[in-house]
Amino acid sequence: MRWRKSASNDIVPGVSVEKLVQAGRDYAASAFPNPDRIGCPGRERLETLALRTAMPDRDDINHLVTCSPCFIEYHAILKASKQKRAVIIGTLVAAALALIVFSGVVISRRLAPPITPAKQPVEAQKQVLKAVIDLRPFERVRGDSPSDVRSRLSLPVLDRADLLVSIQLPTGSPEGQYFFQLLDSSGSPRVETSGNAVIKDFVTTVEAQFDLRDIPAGRFALTVRRTVALGSASYAVEVR
Ligand SMILES: [Zn+2]
Repeated sequence: MRWRKSASNDIVPGVSVEKLVQAGRDYAASAFPNPDRIGCPGRERLETLALRTAMPDRDDINHLVTCSPCFIEYHAILKASKQKRAVIIGTLVAAALALIVFSGVVISRRLAPPITPAKQPVEAQKQVLKAVIDLRPFERVRGDSPSDVRSRLSLPVLDRADLLVSIQLPTGSPEGQYFFQLLDSSGSPRVETSGNAVIKDFVTTVEAQFDLRDIPAGRFALTVRRTVALGSASYAVEVR
């Protein structure tokens, strides 16, 4: 039972309920000495009552208010348990605060931008893999059909990654700007890219970036067209 601390709670002017209860406690604590502890329920029962693990019966109450040693012992247990509870509550509050602070730190770290944003482009560049496609063997020899060429050679294979592909164009291909498309089986362009071809060691070579991270594995047709020319050539490639 809790009493509100308020002047209007005074039973008699100047005598609050709290004061009256305290006076009653003081009285019960001294008015009924029982040095031989006759009829006392024992420490265990007093703990049960103070910790409210059992409801007190009429005998318990009658004894508690007429035996000063039991009354004192009961209040001592009650006070100790309240202090213990306060310590437990304090510990829980501290743990909860620590958790809040910790999760706050974690959340703010998650929300915060990366510590070294300046390094990101460098890392992204590192993730670009290099690949080579040599289209020279796919040149059709006079009289060969495209299927003859394909059956003779294995398909160029590209990994599903952000690639910088060095394409070696068929012998005799002029230097200049080239446009590339990777067409899926339905003929839709999935990747479009371009690059400037230069002749290196007698081979016309173009470096072009192919970002294949978002396309499915499978067979594609690589079309190669000189930007200034109308015609284009098509080659089968495998993406894995
Ligand atoms: Zn007693």
